[in-house]
Amino acid sequence: PDEREVLTYEQFGTAARDLARQVVDGGFEPDLILSIARGGLFLGGALGYALDVKNTFVMNVEFYTGVDERLDLPVVLPPTLDQVDITGANVLVADDVADTGKTLELVRDFCAGYVAAVRTAVVYEKPRSLVTCDYVWRRTDAWIDFPWSSEPPVRRRSNRPPH
Ligand code: 5GP
Repeated sequence: PDEREVLTYEQFGTAARDLARQVVDGGFEPDLILSIARGGLFLGGALGYALDVKNTFVMNVEFYTGVDERLDLPVVLPPTLDQVDITGANVLVADDVADTGKTLELVRDFCAGYVAAVRTAVVYEKPRSLVTCDYVWRRTDAWIDFPWSSEPPVRRRSNRPPH
């Protein structure tokens, strides 16, 4: 789509506090926060402070290669989570946006079975998302410019594996 939704760092700060308030008001008490890298790292960190949760984990998932260009399926990149760490926990998954919802679906299914409860927090949810997130700041149909990816990298690297 041509239309763009621009999020500033300032608005992001407001969004994170609002989402933390939703979590508290809803009575969910997360034991840990699982951020979906890289876009979910910002919200995961902000929620960690706002909810006073120090237990934070990261899952690396890659799906998008450009504006509205994606791989066939979201892919989990190494290093993968040590499952033992989240057994029996109340997990709050943090991401930037549920677009198709496939990334969050993958992470939710990955957690299901051995954690006590999984809830999802996103800054944006798009109407087509196949996952209905528990905590949503705004809904939009537009492509979103996040403040952390609105400018090109300071130094661009050629395609190569993480290690
Ligand atoms: P999904 O699996 O829900 O389609 O989206 C997975 C990831 O793709 C998101 O976490 C985000 O990093 C990226 N993505 C999806 N839609 C947008 C968008 O509108 N703007 C940006 N910047 N990234 C997006």
